[in-house]
Amino acid sequence: MNKFLITLCSFMLAFSAQAKFPVYAWDTLKPVINEDSLRADFQLWKSHGVVGVCMDGSYNLKNIAIAARIAHEVGLEYHSWMHCLKRAGLKHEWYAVNRLGKPADTHPAYVERYKVLDPANPEVRDDLTRNAIAQAKIKNVDYIQLDYIRYADVILPRGLWSKYNLVMDEEYAPADYCYCDRCVADFRSRTGIDIRTVADPSKCQEWLQFRYDRVTELVNHVARKVRKATGKKMSADVFPGPSLAKQLVRQEWNKWDMDMLFPMNYNSFYLEPATWVGNITTEEVQSVKFKHTPVSSGLFIPPISPEDLAVAVKGSIEAGAASIALFTPRYMTPEHWKALDEAIK
Ligand SMILES: [Zn+2]
Repeated sequence: MNKFLITLCSFMLAFSAQAKFPVYAWDTLKPVINEDSLRADFQLWKSHGVVGVCMDGSYNLKNIAIAARIAHEVGLEYHSWMHCLKRAGLKHEWYAVNRLGKPADTHPAYVERYKVLDPANPEVRDDLTRNAIAQAKIKNVDYIQLDYIRYADVILPRGLWSKYNLVMDEEYAPADYCYCDRCVADFRSRTGIDIRTVADPSKCQEWLQFRYDRVTELVNHVARKVRKATGKKMSADVFPGPSLAKQLVRQEWNKWDMDMLFPMNYNSFYLEPATWVGNITTEEVQSVKFKHTPVSSGLFIPPISPEDLAVAVKGSIEAGAASIALFTPRYMTPEHWKALDEAIK
């Protein structure tokens, strides 16, 4: 009997030690990796419930291999994070063209670095696919994680309006893409509509849907090719909703074929309280419930207080999220970690 009780107790202890709600952490790899310091970071995060890391390796295959190996040694899942459609220095023809006819590499919207590629361009698709497969082939990489896999913010999140001195109560023409000859002709052949002659393209439902579909096709193409070539899994960082994601960046991500989704539920971006995180997570979980895609509720750390972090985490859990994700663990204070430890118990 004693032996049975001891076994039962040790089982329960082991179970409770592992029964924390899972957490993911996002970070950027340094150009030159210090293995000891990276391992120490991973171990620290793991001690607070982190089960997987999403790392920006900046397309550096050697660095990704090192970081993925260390993640596995520590016992963490590794998502190789990729900047997809906001990249500088590529072929001029690959960049999207806005409603005013200006290409994004020479006339970026908002800020100089906002050079966005055309998701409908087959060469962009092939380049992204090649790069995703190259990263997925690396031993110890578990997932390819797609980010900036979207059109530019045609409306910025409300919390950013003052930063750019804009009031965005309608779609913003300099950030409205893509009006290149190919996209315009493709849309005309499918619908009979010449979008360049439409007075207010933001009211044209077919034109909105056309662009949701271009992103969805791109995502699902890359996912299919990566899985076929390597058997690895796919995840993506998306805007919240998908109601907001569709309106702001044309991501109809409930139609994406992903193994895991990371909606960026950054309440401060939308001037919303921490309780909003639970509400939007409910929409997110419901929207992909039919295919059981796990939703990881992404939280933006610098502005969120430890008290609000606890509210956001609990709201996410109650809404049915499979995990939460920290952007980024570097900004977690001891008080944040304490609040997180309590909330995920
Ligand atoms: Zn185009």
